[in-house]
Amino acid sequence: MGNIFSRLFQRLFGNKEVRVLMVGLDNAGKTTLLYRIKEGSMIKTVPTIGFNMEQIEVNNLKMQVWDLGGQTSIRPYWRSYYQKQEALIFVVDSNDRERFSTAKTELLSILQEEELKNTVIAVFANKQDLPEAASAAEVSLALGLDSIKDRTWTIISTSAAKGDGIAEGFEWIASQLKH
Ligand code: GDP
Ligand code: MG
Repeated sequence: MGNIFSRLFQRLFGNKEVRVLMVGLDNAGKTTLLYRIKEGSMIKTVPTIGFNMEQIEVNNLKMQVWDLGGQTSIRPYWRSYYQKQEALIFVVDSNDRERFSTAKTELLSILQEEELKNTVIAVFANKQDLPEAASAAEVSLALGLDSIKDRTWTIISTSAAKGDGIAEGFEWIASQLKH
């Protein structure tokens, strides 16, 4: 009952809170990104055990951003958080060319998850501040993003370290989810 009223309230007042799932290989910069958006400043991170969640508001849209640990050993547990996610952020370390193919495999398997089939997808080509980083175009090619059909996706150049591109990324997500 309470749930029905809270949903009605959310409809009427546009107070919708959407869930955004942030995934990617370990070391891609997910936790740094999450704290970037929350604190607006760089903090020292420790490798994620389990998950973190922060609530943010972008253009009047409230978002729960879930950062799941990326270590291979806990990747099977990602599945428990898939339900009701409306957007997917796939973070890539653009400087880690050796693992682009692993990232591609991971992304493709996530996109096949039944619970995630309606999510919009924002690929963050992160660590753009590093001089040797692959461009967003290179990352897009290496991950085969052009072959993603029937899904709404984009790729955005980000630097979690510098704070670049993150606002644009979340604004794109907000614009996709607002209608
Ligand atoms: P996670 O495993 O995906 O959560 O990655 P972390 O957020 O823990 O980041 C892994 C490492 O990459 C840390 O040493 C971060 O400081 C570093 N890092 C994250 N984002 C960036 C970035 O945009 N540029 C640079 N140069 N380093 C970054
Ligand atoms: Mg982490």
